[in-house]
Amino acid sequence: MLNLEKSLAAFNEAKTLMPGGVNSPVRSYANVDCNPPFIAKAKGDRIFDIDGNEYIDYVGSWGPMVVGHAHPNVVKALQEAVTRGTSYGAPTLLESELAKLVMKVYPSIEVIRMVNSGTEATMSALRLARGYTGRDKIVKFIGCYHGHSDSLLVNAGSGMATFGVPSSPGVTKGTAADTISVPYNDVEAITKVMDEMGDEIAAVIIEPVAGNMGCVPPKQGYLRKIRELTQAHGTILIFDEVMCGFRASLGGAQAAYGITPDLTCLGKIIGGGLPVAAYGGRRDIMMKVSPAGPVYQAGTLSGNPLAMTAGIETLKLITAEPEPGEADYSRMLTLKTKKLLLGWLEKAKEAGVTIQAHQAGSMFGIFFNEHEVYNYDDSCASDQEAFKVWFKSMLEQGIYLAPSQFETLFMSGAHSDEDIDRTIEAAGKAFKAVAE
Ligand code: PLP
Repeated sequence: MLNLEKSLAAFNEAKTLMPGGVNSPVRSYANVDCNPPFIAKAKGDRIFDIDGNEYIDYVGSWGPMVVGHAHPNVVKALQEAVTRGTSYGAPTLLESELAKLVMKVYPSIEVIRMVNSGTEATMSALRLARGYTGRDKIVKFIGCYHGHSDSLLVNAGSGMATFGVPSSPGVTKGTAADTISVPYNDVEAITKVMDEMGDEIAAVIIEPVAGNMGCVPPKQGYLRKIRELTQAHGTILIFDEVMCGFRASLGGAQAAYGITPDLTCLGKIIGGGLPVAAYGGRRDIMMKVSPAGPVYQAGTLSGNPLAMTAGIETLKLITAEPEPGEADYSRMLTLKTKKLLLGWLEKAKEAGVTIQAHQAGSMFGIFFNEHEVYNYDDSCASDQEAFKVWFKSMLEQGIYLAPSQFETLFMSGAHSDEDIDRTIEAAGKAFKAVAE
């Protein structure tokens, strides 16, 4: 048994200080009936709790830690940067450097604005789409999570799905009424909405690879159809690549599926573990953002020098030319992920447990489900009790996974072949526990 004595005491104290003891809901482990380990430090693909337990980490701070924790290049650059001051609230060369690094792999981003969180990126992109088109309504997809701004907190996946909340109290009826939700991967549903009221819709926002109802990729041709429909109605297509950016492929889902959105939201990886996100895209649209244009958006800490530095170092690592004969960073991650998932599938089969597995580059996940999972309803129909047993067994064996079926797992460059083998072995035991 894991000794989580100190974590338990820390959690009990935290619960008196913060709602549910945490600063973001899924961290509380409430739906897996156990207490969260309190983390003391992390290095590479390992995370260490305050009781001295060590885990192989597939959460990676929910996606950003693509080069592993405390990568020496990131640490060194941050140590140097901090001596030059932590925030100026004034333009820096670092902001342009990160902008250029991003634009090189996202050619659809002609102009970019840095913000501090994915929530800010999607919220600002929506305001911009509404300001640009003069329309109020937006379309989102059931089970897609785009952060916690009011317009987008309707039928959102992730923590809301984990805790069974369809739309948060505090989101006004008026706001919710302007958000139209349709099922993911359902061509007919989006076609109907666009046919009926496309000319009133400012934006369609989508996770082009969904990561907040578990990992659910788009069906073939689905994104293309959405591109065609939005183009036909002058509706702005926003790809929320906060999670799948740099993961579905280096150039994100838009490169992987060959679809060019009007606006893209990025987050997580572009900050290398510090608070950064961004939105960007077509120049004519982005030039409406203040002070170039009338759509207001600002931030005291936006473009913060430490955050820019961590992002720059992380992007340099993942965009570096590979050594001759070696796979590039993104391909290397994809291959590691494939190895892990194939191993899990084999172990599940041996244990007589049916699972569905999805991978998009270095994003991945499994569902305890007899049937294929292509939307939120499919995801909800998965066996949550089996997930709990599996999750707890993996944690006991030192494998740190997201504590919810509605979350995605992430591979990093720091995961060694030996660690992946160990994770496959642990999965074998966990699937047996599920089967018992
Ligand atoms: N968009 C997507 C696709 C996300 O997965 C998330 C967070 O997980 C967000 C937006 C919100 O980002 P943040 O938590 O940085 O506000």
